[in-house]
Amino acid sequence: MSDPILLVRDLSMTYPDSNGGLHALRDVSFEVFPREFVAVLGSSGSGKSTLLRILAGLLQPTSGSVSFGGQGPVGSGAASPRIGMVFQQSNLMPWRTVIENVKLPLELDGVDDETARARAQELIELVGLQGFENNWPRELSGGMAQRVAIARALIHDPDLLLLDEPFGALDALTREHMWIELSRIWQMRQKTVILVTHSIHESLFLADRVLVLTPRPGRIKLDFKVDLPRPRADEIRYTAHFGSLAKKLKEAIG
Ligand code: ADP
Ligand code: MG
Repeated sequence: MSDPILLVRDLSMTYPDSNGGLHALRDVSFEVFPREFVAVLGSSGSGKSTLLRILAGLLQPTSGSVSFGGQGPVGSGAASPRIGMVFQQSNLMPWRTVIENVKLPLELDGVDDETARARAQELIELVGLQGFENNWPRELSGGMAQRVAIARALIHDPDLLLLDEPFGALDALTREHMWIELSRIWQMRQKTVILVTHSIHESLFLADRVLVLTPRPGRIKLDFKVDLPRPRADEIRYTAHFGSLAKKLKEAIG
């Protein structure tokens, strides 16, 4: 087995409040290996978004450490990996077309327009939105907007993709379709992914491993290996084995 790409050690987070502090996470430790798809499963308020924001460097933990092992991106000389992030809301710029939204991060980096457009076009095709390059965000369905957000998060070719309930705002059928799409994209790009979700079925369908968080303060209650074959088709969700795995996770969540 290769070295972990991510090492999380004894992470705790206490938000200040008037009552001695709100403990969102306590002593969270785990590691993630290159190309792994890890789901963090927990009920609402268990500290999932807090954890992802700490991993993304958007939030400073109260204690504990996050370190990135392995090699940094080739040629960058940087120790920290590139991170792409997708939230529950697509956060697209309403005054920019699909392709302009996807290429925005490259634009901000000063990449020339021709290169940026070509990269964006490739990712738009990867997420299945060819033909919608010049549409406005308001013309997209929720599922399409999340595809744009995924394409945008991939534009830097990140080492680590962090997804915070990316399908939480979608209707059930669209969400299940997006699972298949994300699974396909992950298979093609072989990214390391951490997906936060409160859906047992979503975590099982997508992940290699599921980390189950306790209710607040979030701690890792279970590190669960998902022994389902890949590629996974929709039918797998209706097998007895899938059902028995779901039952175990349900018991762990409580
Ligand atoms: P989840 O994503 O699992 O729903 P969060 O990480 O958003 O959980 O929140 C965990 C707990 O921390 C919740 O009780 C929430 O109210 C609290 N919390 C989250 N962000 C803040 C903040 N910026 N300030 C104070 N409390 C916060
Ligand atoms: Mg959250």
